Parts: sequence; C-alpha cells; structure tokens
Amino acid sequence: MPTDRDRDALRPGEVAVDAGAPGDARLRFIGRIHTPWATRDDCPRQGRMDGPECRVEVFAPWDAALKGLEAYETVELLYWLDRGRRDLVLQSPKSDGVTTGTFALRSPVRPNPIGTSLVRLVKVSGSNLIVRGLDCLDGTPLVDIKPDRCEFTPKAPPKG
Ligand code: SAM
Repeated sequence: MPTDRDRDALRPGEVAVDAGAPGDARLRFIGRIHTPWATRDDCPRQGRMDGPECRVEVFAPWDAALKGLEAYETVELLYWLDRGRRDLVLQSPKSDGVTTGTFALRSPVRPNPIGTSLVRLVKVSGSNLIVRGLDCLDGTPLVDIKPDRCEFTPKAPPKG
C-alpha cells in the first residue's frame, strides 16, 4: 500500500523545478476540516454532494463571521492542501509517462495548494459547519468560506 510519501516520488515524465522554500503568503488559517480520510488514497478525487458529512471547525474569533451563512444551501470552501509537494510543473496523474501542466490539472500538487469545493451546507452548529461534498484529508487547514456565487442572494433574509 503506497504511503503519501511514496506518492510524492517523481513519476516517469514528471518535471520538478527548484521552487525554493515556500515563503507562504501569510494566510490566516481560519479553521480546520474534519473528514473521514487519513490518506490521500482514501480521499475522493472530487467531493460529491451525497458524500459523507464532514465537520468544518471555525476558530475564534472568525466564528463570529458565520452570521447569515445558514441561509445558504451551498457554500464554497477554500482550503490549504498542506500535505503534498509544491514543485511540479509537469505531472503524470496516471503514472504512465503522459504529462500535463500543473495549471491544466486540479491536482493538489501545485505551488500554492489551494483546494476549492462547493459543498452542501447541512447545518451551522455554533462554530461548526456540517457539510457534504468534501475531498480533503482529516485536519486540512481552512482558508475561507464564501456563499455560492450562483446563490448570491440568500433564499431567506439572514436572521438577527
Ligand atoms: N476539490 C479541490 C479542487 O478541485 O481544488 C481538491 C481536488 S484534489 C484532486 C483532491 C485530492 O487532493 C484528494 O483526492 C487527495 O488525494 C488530495 N488531498 C486531499 N487533502 C489533501 C491535503 N490536505 N494535502 C495534500 N493533498 C490532499
């Protein structure tokens, strides 16, 4: 069973560059995502709205920023895919020597590993969101939460 470290090994045709140390953009992680998946192989490639319920924990003081979110059925989550390499320009997703540019893929391996998912908001419970539709490892840092742009106007006016 390959580990995530094994999965970081270069595959035939893949090209890594000297990307230097990531001088991260001083993001504030606003929370942590709790999912059933411990390894990258366990994770779905893309989440599905009928996937398992996952818990999105929002840290204080940012939990106060959840006010009004309960009015939305779907929200967009941005998260930091923190456990992959960040230096590939060409990738071979099928390990078959056929390569594609990083920016033509939704692979987690990218210079700034931001993942996005449109998820179904099951409920807001205090500082936690219960959602379906995720595809990230347990403990993945949360970068941002936005209401679905297609539903920019909430179905019901925000409470309070
Ligand atoms: N839905 C997001 C997107 O399109 O931007 C992420 C898609 S990416 C293909 C999802 C895959 O990233 C998962 O199947 C898993 O292999 C990997 N992954 C999930 N969480 C990760 C993490 N915290 N660090 C590194 N890789 C992760």
